[in-house]
Amino acid sequence: MDCLFCKIVEGRIPSPRVLEDENAIVIKDIQPHAKQHYLVIPKKHMQDVVDAFSDERQGRETIGSLFSLATKLAEKENLGEGFRAIINTGVNGGQTIFHLHLHILGGQKLTGKFA
Ligand code: AMP
Ligand code: ZN
Repeated sequence: MDCLFCKIVEGRIPSPRVLEDENAIVIKDIQPHAKQHYLVIPKKHMQDVVDAFSDERQGRETIGSLFSLATKLAEKENLGEGFRAIINTGVNGGQTIFHLHLHILGGQKLTGKFA
């Protein structure tokens, strides 16, 4: 399968890992939309959050593990003053890479809210 994030997870495309656990990795977004912008990517390929919940237990465990690593990231990368977590889903949600991922943005007071 030709999936960029699978290649990054497998190390076939080098991308420094900010953090990693058994379920997910964290990398810096290549086109940051904030002073700090990270992607939390599950190691297992799932297209999006809907695909993740095609199996209820898998969905719960996956989303839980992404936020678990995100809170460790917040501690490691000094996001104590806050951050924004976003999962773009599908074309209308603005998703461009169809391997589930959680955006974590911070390092500044974010302007704007939605859309
Ligand atoms: P989304 O649009 O929600 O699917 O998010 C995909 C994100 O992946 C975008 O913010 C891109 O800037 C980011 N991205 C694309 N290629 C890479 C890469 N090689 N390394 C890190 N981030 C990437
Ligand atoms: Zn993938």
